[in-house]
Amino acid sequence: MPKKTKGQELAEKLTWSVPNIGKDAPKQVEKARKFCEGYKKFLDEGKTERECVRYAVKLLEKNGYRPFEAGASYQAGDKVYYVNRGKSLIATTFGRLPLEEGLRINGAHIDSPRLDLKPNPMYEKDEMAYFKTHYYGGIRKYQWGTIPLAMHGVVMKKNGEKVEICIGEKEGDPVFCITDLLPHLAGKQNERPLREGLKGEELNIVIGSLPYQDDQVKEPVKLLALELLNQQYGITEADFYRAEIEMVPAQKACDVGLDRSLIGAYGQDDRVCAYTALMAEMDTDMPEHTTVTILTDKEEIGSEGNTGLASSYVLHYIQDLADLEGIPVRRILKNSMCLSSDVNAAYDPTFPDVYESRNSSYINKGCVLTKYTGARGKSSSNDAGAELMGKVIGIMEEAGVYWQAGELGKVDEGGGGTIAKFVAAMDVDTVDLGVPILSMHAPFELASKLDVWNTYKAFRAFYK
Ligand code: MN
Ligand code: MN
Repeated sequence: MPKKTKGQELAEKLTWSVPNIGKDAPKQVEKARKFCEGYKKFLDEGKTERECVRYAVKLLEKNGYRPFEAGASYQAGDKVYYVNRGKSLIATTFGRLPLEEGLRINGAHIDSPRLDLKPNPMYEKDEMAYFKTHYYGGIRKYQWGTIPLAMHGVVMKKNGEKVEICIGEKEGDPVFCITDLLPHLAGKQNERPLREGLKGEELNIVIGSLPYQDDQVKEPVKLLALELLNQQYGITEADFYRAEIEMVPAQKACDVGLDRSLIGAYGQDDRVCAYTALMAEMDTDMPEHTTVTILTDKEEIGSEGNTGLASSYVLHYIQDLADLEGIPVRRILKNSMCLSSDVNAAYDPTFPDVYESRNSSYINKGCVLTKYTGARGKSSSNDAGAELMGKVIGIMEEAGVYWQAGELGKVDEGGGGTIAKFVAAMDVDTVDLGVPILSMHAPFELASKLDVWNTYKAFRAFYK
């Protein structure tokens, strides 16, 4: 190699550019590949927040976690978990330091954009049976037509019995679908703005086309569909009022690309951070600081409701921890540090115009540290302080984590939020960290295995 010039040496010393992990540390490719096999299973097992909680509890129990009991006594290394209404979860490993020294909190969300059934969803039109839906979270509606959909959810029957529904995931199961126009007749539809390519009230899901055999019945196609649901689950039409049914892409998680470097799946926002956070939590044995790993619900609709971070359920949990040592909770909170672990928009070479290339996150450059989110001048953002940025970057660099910094798109191009501001509102130092995603909020999102692996490594180091 030719000797470096003085200028090249100085540039090396003073400037900064983020390396591509594939080039810089090719040995990580195999480690990342292995790690992501478990991640793909997590994605397939948890397509709703409830399923994620159920699967996470299964993993936690297997790893020695027990339900948290307020008022019990715990020692360093003890592992507990708490489930909030079946839709959010908190896991803790007690640390060596007193709680007053602060917690290490890692919060990810396990709800994803989808199509919820309306309370009165079933109808028949022109001898076809359908479900009416109301979309949940930010979707681009046109992306949800003509793809196979699966039906997931719970129904509370009149007798108090809870029935779990899952159709479209097992080999041989039927799936469901929203239709769209053929190009031959789409002339007028093509003139619509893209956001109205399919309109909200056009997201109607085909559930049947054969009639129940009885000329006296007014809506025989709907009746046959109801009969089949009744045979399988014992439910009636009125039970939909006591239900939460989510229609999600039926596609399973899979490798993408000839080199298999990417994972394609539904719901990677934000189950990619949920999985890496959960694995880091379970792999932590005797941490310095007590850990609080949160898998929360409702982020996609603004963290509302009592299973979302805008509610006090996490605060109450930390109050219960404070009570164990008989100290005011505020003394724990102000010394705590939180990673709000959520995805960011990866730079997309096909659509470069919406990104500012110097301040975007890229595939295969590691986990992305996001100082602030929000829109229109950081509005609605948690803007992390320089001191906290210093601490978190220090933790990652010490552990050899590949990380990058990124904003979500150009200034005034759009924006978004996370749970960060809700944790920060409890007087906790909080910053966003997560995985860059391509096609975020689409039925099939892409993430890089190397980025997933390095996010796990960052979370592990955070819990050291
Ligand atoms: Mn998210
Ligand atoms: Mn999201």
